[in-house]
Amino acid sequence: MIMLLSGGIDSTVMLYHALDLGNKDILGLFIDYGQRNFTGEHHAVHNICKKLHVTYHHIQVPTAFSYSNSSCLAHGNELYPGTVEELLPEGKFNAFVPNRNMLLISIASGVAMAYGHSEVWCGFIKLRNADVFFDQSPLFIDGISKILSPQGITVKAPLNSLYKEDVIKLGVTYGVDFNDTWTCYSNEERSCRVCSACIARDKSFKVARGEL
Ligand SMILES: [Zn+2]
Repeated sequence: MIMLLSGGIDSTVMLYHALDLGNKDILGLFIDYGQRNFTGEHHAVHNICKKLHVTYHHIQVPTAFSYSNSSCLAHGNELYPGTVEELLPEGKFNAFVPNRNMLLISIASGVAMAYGHSEVWCGFIKLRNADVFFDQSPLFIDGISKILSPQGITVKAPLNSLYKEDVIKLGVTYGVDFNDTWTCYSNEERSCRVCSACIARDKSFKVARGEL
């Protein structure tokens, strides 16, 4: 299978999950789409794949979203501190990259066809703010999978019934070292701890540990 990897918690646990299920023919895909946190993500994907002896390809489309000012992009608007719920009413939440996942899945499907793979796996999980990120919903995945099925490709999001805290718990059972992963939207050397991704990560660990 082709596995979209970002170096974050979700796709990393998905990779461990696939290996735990006995899958051996895994090709990781790390896509540079101009994300602000490219260095952190790439470093994480590289180290995780090396540790697990999984090959990954690095695809570069860094100007693909040059029309967007999403704060997730290197050239995008300022990245404000705060949760999605805090930033949305103030009009400061801008971490959504329009139609990003359609592009990522499209590239992954092309790679799958070129290499004779029949599945594309995405690390999309269950969200409490699913309306903000429609392009990782089960409806979206099912729709894309239907479009690609005549070409022999199935798109799967095996963790999409799990909230992030449950993904963390699953990762613990696989012995995932979460220090290997990168979540932060910023391009700082260390995670900023104040962007919406960092706050969600910290909160999910607390919930997973029963502290919240
Ligand atoms: Zn951050």
